Amino acid sequence: MSFPVLPYGRQSIDETDIEGVVAALKSDWLTTGPKVDAFEEKFVELLGVDHAVAVSSGTAALHCAMHALGIGPGDEVIVPPLTFAATANCVVFQGGVPVFADVDPKTLLLDPVQVDRKISRKTKAIIAVDYAGQPCDYDALDSIAKSKNIPIVADACHSLGAQYKDRTVGTLADISVFSFHPVKQITTGEGGMVVTANSEWAQRIRRFRNHGISSDFKQRAHEGSWFYEMMELGFNYRLTDFQSALGISQLGKLSGFVRKRQAIADIYNQAFASIQGVSPLEVRSDVAHAYHLYVTRIASEALGITREALFAALRAEGIGVNVHYIPVHLHPYYRQKFGTGRGLCPVAEEAYERILSLPVFPSMAVGEVDRVVSAVMKNVRPSGSMPR
Ligand SMILES: *Cc1c(COP(=O)(O)O)cnc(C)c1O
Repeated sequence: MSFPVLPYGRQSIDETDIEGVVAALKSDWLTTGPKVDAFEEKFVELLGVDHAVAVSSGTAALHCAMHALGIGPGDEVIVPPLTFAATANCVVFQGGVPVFADVDPKTLLLDPVQVDRKISRKTKAIIAVDYAGQPCDYDALDSIAKSKNIPIVADACHSLGAQYKDRTVGTLADISVFSFHPVKQITTGEGGMVVTANSEWAQRIRRFRNHGISSDFKQRAHEGSWFYEMMELGFNYRLTDFQSALGISQLGKLSGFVRKRQAIADIYNQAFASIQGVSPLEVRSDVAHAYHLYVTRIASEALGITREALFAALRAEGIGVNVHYIPVHLHPYYRQKFGTGRGLCPVAEEAYERILSLPVFPSMAVGEVDRVVSAVMKNVRPSGSMPR
């Protein structure tokens, strides 16, 4: 099966993955069985975290994080605007108010200075998004948040496998959240994971993903096998066993997947180094980037072609370029409900006019990478590129 166009991202599934899923399908458990536990354990081991709770999506994982922190009506949570809407939506699920803090112009990561400015007496958490796969500057965020006792949640849906100052993503924030959507580093079809060092939060998340039902086995054995108690309002955010089987198999290939992404990014970086006006985002020297996305900024003036025209030209050649993201505070829902709009986060708004995501995924062939490079070159060359 192949897509008619080269997508910006896609899954890599091999025979081992398929065998793992088939074995799970033939077992007694379709949902919430031994594979879920095994997937969580493997995640704990690989990332060096204390607790991992598997859930049905990255969005569910974000919601669980907000619940664990007790976010409620009127509470403010600081979020960046340049992200998938779910990062802010999870605050609204709990009745809270997302407060948008602008991004750094070079990396498009949450700017600690802007975060500091947006902190108020109502601030109950900060969600940092490792945009494109580069970890945020957690030390800088920590120095702002810790003194005020504000927990940091890492929306690490882009950065599984990345590192920050030799520390693994998943260990950098109070709670970290992952997605296993097919375009992400590893996939379970749909799926997500919440990791934390805090056992109390992990416990709350386990209960929240299962309707708020307490799952104390010993108590259940004591009271009789029919007995359970719903302690609070929760959801069905469970991941299935056969999805977890896929996750276990995929996780074993994570480092290889990330290396492939980095190798593709290297080719792009070298190819575009000589073109003024095609500028990849800056990567700090203290990180290992996981390259969920390869984001460039297009300077129309230098190239003689607008981002829109380049987007259309590349799409016409079957290259699935994309734009990540429309700033969340510009969506009609947020404008209407929270009165957000243009001018709130000028850096993100300006970046949104220029950014273009190029295809990057582990199974992308070198020939396909070259095809993307030449298509970009061809479209920008006539009007402006200046070899350096
Ligand atoms: C993918 C993604 C999500 C949501 O994950 P789903 O698994 O699709 O629900 C949240 N935040 C970011 C930054 C993402 O990229």
